[in-house]
Amino acid sequence: MEDIIFNAKIIKRGKVNGQKYVVLNETTFYPDGKGGQLGDRGTISHSKVLSVKEKEGEILHFVDQFPLEDEVNCVVSGKRRMDISVHHTAQHILSGAFMNLFNIETSSFHMGEKYCTIDIAALDISKERVRAAEELANKIVMQNIPVKKYFVTEKQLEKLPLRKKHDVNGKIRIVEIPDFDISMCGGTHVDYTGEIGIIKVLKYERVKKVFQRIYFVAGMRALRDYERKTEILSDISSLLTTGEDELLEKIKSLVKEQKNRKKEITQLKNTLFEYIAEELVKESKVIGTTNVLIKEVKDYSKEDLINLSKRCKNKKSLLSILYSNKGNVTEVVISKGNGIKVDLSRLKEELSKKFGLRGGGNSGFMMLEMNRNEGIKETFEQLIQSEKKIVD
Ligand SMILES: [Zn+2]
Repeated sequence: MEDIIFNAKIIKRGKVNGQKYVVLNETTFYPDGKGGQLGDRGTISHSKVLSVKEKEGEILHFVDQFPLEDEVNCVVSGKRRMDISVHHTAQHILSGAFMNLFNIETSSFHMGEKYCTIDIAALDISKERVRAAEELANKIVMQNIPVKKYFVTEKQLEKLPLRKKHDVNGKIRIVEIPDFDISMCGGTHVDYTGEIGIIKVLKYERVKKVFQRIYFVAGMRALRDYERKTEILSDISSLLTTGEDELLEKIKSLVKEQKNRKKEITQLKNTLFEYIAEELVKESKVIGTTNVLIKEVKDYSKEDLINLSKRCKNKKSLLSILYSNKGNVTEVVISKGNGIKVDLSRLKEELSKKFGLRGGGNSGFMMLEMNRNEGIKETFEQLIQSEKKIVD
């Protein structure tokens, strides 16, 4: 579509939340959000139109800068208007398809910069039905039917077989795809259904427990989407050195394999940690009246630290303090065995007096992060030595 060019006069300049806008004596810019549609973009003189809002009967054109003059030349982007018209007409057709095939009404329509959605009044819908509606919609596109737009009076309106009735006052604009769909609509549309090119449903899902939301794209956006997906598929295909038709089976088997590996690794780790715990508890010593193991273990993940710590305290009645340095923080896991009288929450309290601390736990276990990586062992030893603060 060609750009739409017109001359107008600026009759008002203003700001909303610091954003500059102008009002013209007449305008062809379609406002954002009207009838669920995206708004036009373009230029007013040398200023870029960023958004268009309708407010109390006025059309506010938000611009990046105020035009210097009052008599202005305006350009509405034809490319964007075409994209909007394609998607709006595609919506009429898709909604018409659901209505004609299954008597399902469209409750609302939303047009976004990336994709559009319609909410159809159906609790559930099958994949086959969505496909059938998509196919019928595309047949209507391919038949290149003229899209009629005209005004009617309220009386004439009564005789029209409308897909959906709205309350209206004043001029009533009708958009008709002959023998297929008649709607009341004030938006922008293409002149022939063939201009839409293709309508592609991307996905659908249940929303608000009463609607099915159908996501779709049309025209060049559908082509871009197809291009992108073809590329992704081709990349995955060469990465896995598998033909496209076998990809799904290949990925399923990889996922299964990975799950099994994970299970195997967990089993191996558990066996290994049993041995390590056996050795570690030999290093425990009595401080004051408490049997303690304080040990730095390197390159352990948080989960592994916890796993190992619990095994240590199960092997022997002791207080297990394992820590691992991770750059600026040290992860500390404390587990308390049976009969150990150290109060972990008081221990934490005393620690937090000395340095920054995060984390917590319960009376038998704690997972802490300290902003410190030196003197950890000595600090714990001193605290446990001066036991009256932390031992019951
Ligand atoms: Zn429309």
